Amino acid sequence: MLLTSRAFRTSGKAPTPLLGIPVYFPAFHVEALVSPKQTEVSRDAAKYPAGELKGSVFPAFFHSPENSPSPVMANVDRAYNHVRQELAEVGLLSDGLYLDAVELVVSGDKSEGERGYVFEQVGHYAKWGYRPGVIYLPRDLPHQPRKPGMTLCDTIRHEYAHAWFFHDPSFFRDDWFVRTFGTSYSNCNATPYNTWRRILKRNPEYQAGKKRCRSERGQLRYFYGHLLSEFITDYATTNASEDFAETFMFFLKYRRSLDRFVNRPGVYRKLKSVERAVAVAGKRVKQLAERTYRSRTA
Ligand SMILES: [Zn+2]
Repeated sequence: MLLTSRAFRTSGKAPTPLLGIPVYFPAFHVEALVSPKQTEVSRDAAKYPAGELKGSVFPAFFHSPENSPSPVMANVDRAYNHVRQELAEVGLLSDGLYLDAVELVVSGDKSEGERGYVFEQVGHYAKWGYRPGVIYLPRDLPHQPRKPGMTLCDTIRHEYAHAWFFHDPSFFRDDWFVRTFGTSYSNCNATPYNTWRRILKRNPEYQAGKKRCRSERGQLRYFYGHLLSEFITDYATTNASEDFAETFMFFLKYRRSLDRFVNRPGVYRKLKSVERAVAVAGKRVKQLAERTYRSRTA
């Protein structure tokens, strides 16, 4: 989920070019494998009495880096580092570079339906310690997944897509995004879904097939089958940024077997396009890593 109340947007925010991502970690680490990182609970969590923590798995105490890690925080750490390893594999993360800058924090707030979120602009949330571009998980995690079978890793994969945009918006202004997802990342309207639906409704083949369905339920299933050939999940119909985040989540998860989606042509096309975009970004990260390494060792 992307929390980006447009009212919080400041105008004229300078884009950060891919090669301008600050190297905030000693660059001589570039050769090392990606170092595991520890997640944290935001300091705000401390203001809640321990008994307020609910959920079947979340224990009634807080994690802080000084305390011994709780089982849930160990799960979060494991999932976070698992996804970081995937990102390193596809080239989007290297020690001290690019998506290595993305932090994950278990927030002091309960879920209001979201499994995770990234702020583009924090606005008045700043006074509670929220920062933009950070992946937040609600403190009452885990709760019901949006879809059966979805995991904590899936949530983190999805949120990394939003964090990626935050950390390198100019990369998303290239043609590839609009060509793939139908409109710009920042367009919050369900424009791609509405356009697709309008075209589908005018399709005589679709109409004829729909007429052959005997019940309303059958018609709905028929419609849903078409929808899932274009959008990877129903949540992806929300807008272009969520379509990207859901597609990116599946790309990371199934990056070695994307052909499993070949029977869903629209979805497959998006996955392949994301794969190409990741390769382009990954190549630049690699060049940056090599340049940084050379300058450090020269
Ligand atoms: Zn999202």
